[in-house]
Amino acid sequence: MLTLNSNNLQVVRLQLQLRQLKHYDGLITGFFDDNTRTAVKSFQKQYNLQSDGIVGPKTQTVLNTLCVNGFHILYIHCAATPEGRNVPAENITAFHTLPVSKGGRGWSRPGYSDVIELSGKLVNIFKYNDDNQISEWEQTWGVHGSTLLNRNARHICYIGGMSADLKQVKDTRTAEQTETLKKYVLETLENHPDIIVVGHNQVQNKACPSFDVPNWLSEIGVHEYNIGQWSNKLRI
Ligand SMILES: [Zn+2]
Repeated sequence: MLTLNSNNLQVVRLQLQLRQLKHYDGLITGFFDDNTRTAVKSFQKQYNLQSDGIVGPKTQTVLNTLCVNGFHILYIHCAATPEGRNVPAENITAFHTLPVSKGGRGWSRPGYSDVIELSGKLVNIFKYNDDNQISEWEQTWGVHGSTLLNRNARHICYIGGMSADLKQVKDTRTAEQTETLKKYVLETLENHPDIIVVGHNQVQNKACPSFDVPNWLSEIGVHEYNIGQWSNKLRI
């Protein structure tokens, strides 16, 4: 159940759902404040639910049904490969989808839709269309083990993210990769103005993508409306 002062990633999802359904125009904070409660009440009224501003199972089920395939989050990842090593995008697909016996992870599809190689080349490794839905056929699963965080998301990964000796986490983006990523983020936001852009390390206790995504987004001019505003304490 989510109620006033709840503070977790479920509230992130709730705020994104309320935003998609035009009941909430605040920032995505993961904190259930008065504005969030007002939005919940207004949503409950529209769907003839008890308008108490509390998100119990009934309200959550209606929200989930209405937003089942909505595009809410663009995640940025790194491949955790060493600085300067030119790993082709197809190797990422192979690594994720080859059977474990052949050195892969044995997944049915790669964890990302797009990969940015060292040259800055953007390679689509799993197809999607450009509507506002993440249909089942276009879902990837970059946040390992979390349906909550993957269902309404798309994932992009840059090659790199570790020092050459693999001992340290490092922002190894080449100038070309940074430029491609910037263009990619800004174009995605043009087509999907209500989503947020998030680093993998904002939702799980990981270093990926080896840089501070909210700071970088601010630097390239992304509005706080499209930046996840919660602290690392909310990570699962
Ligand atoms: Zn990641």
